[in-house]
Amino acid sequence: MSFVHCDNLVKIYKVADLEVVALQGVDLEIDKGEMMAIVGASGSGKSSLLNILGGLDKPSAGKIRVGNYDLTRLKKREQVAYRRKSVGFVWQQTARNLIPYLTAKQNVELPMALNRLNKREREARAVELLNSVGLGDRLNHLPRNLSGGQQQRVAIAIAMANFPDLLLADEPTGQVDSEAANTIFDAMLQLNQHYGVTVVIVTHDYTVSDRVERVITMRDGHMMNEFIRDNNSDLDPTEYALVDRGGRLQLPQEYLDKLSIADRVRLQLHADYVAVYPASKRESNE
Ligand code: ADP
Ligand code: MG
Repeated sequence: MSFVHCDNLVKIYKVADLEVVALQGVDLEIDKGEMMAIVGASGSGKSSLLNILGGLDKPSAGKIRVGNYDLTRLKKREQVAYRRKSVGFVWQQTARNLIPYLTAKQNVELPMALNRLNKREREARAVELLNSVGLGDRLNHLPRNLSGGQQQRVAIAIAMANFPDLLLADEPTGQVDSEAANTIFDAMLQLNQHYGVTVVIVTHDYTVSDRVERVITMRDGHMMNEFIRDNNSDLDPTEYALVDRGGRLQLPQEYLDKLSIADRVRLQLHADYVAVYPASKRESNE
């Protein structure tokens, strides 16, 4: 059984008389200890999905289970417990993650005050986590004396403070340059490997596929395609297109452009594959 199981998730926002369909039937399975990324243009539904995964919002339809929590049916108290103990969340806005007048170490200790750890245990864990994200020499710095990338790494350590099973980050590199982005991805990779925490990063930075083994692309509230890379191989990652339960699959725009595919294609079923041919001129003019 996978750790995260999403079945036909739908999210509809109602604004005045308008309905915005943000997720249109998302199926997703994530294994325990996996690290994956979700990429996609702005408005494709990434944050909506992550908020549901984090127990911050509920789906309009469909099912979602994380570990033993059925997130569609959580009562208020269970939802609070889930958010406090099982997930860590990192936001894009660095300011939203940190308390400005506390040092890095104090920031990481804060969420632990709600748990039953004593002062010494809290300190030890904060130091350990800050070391893990490469900030062992910045323990007593205030946020304003840290770079944007360093602040985000403190935020990641904070999100890990309560030993979550699931670490979620919504565009954690959205406000930093690419060099700092690398240190942020590295920190998450380190925590994933060291603590076995399951990690989902939402980003519109497609280069994340160089670092993460599994990348899913979202478009218009759908999962579009999936890249899986085998770290032990030099080969390019394998690209999968995702097929929904109605059999629909979306071809990448570059394929459409390259073969001038417009409104129809010719399909041919073979013993173990399906061929997709651009319809010839004559056919498509009919
Ligand atoms: P992304 O994170 O990929 O940019 P979002 O999940 O934020 O995408 O948004 C998906 C769609 O849902 C967009 O059209 C967005 O405008 C809409 N949306 C997101 N949040 C809300 C909300 N709270 N109320 C109304 N519409 C929303
Ligand atoms: Mg978003």
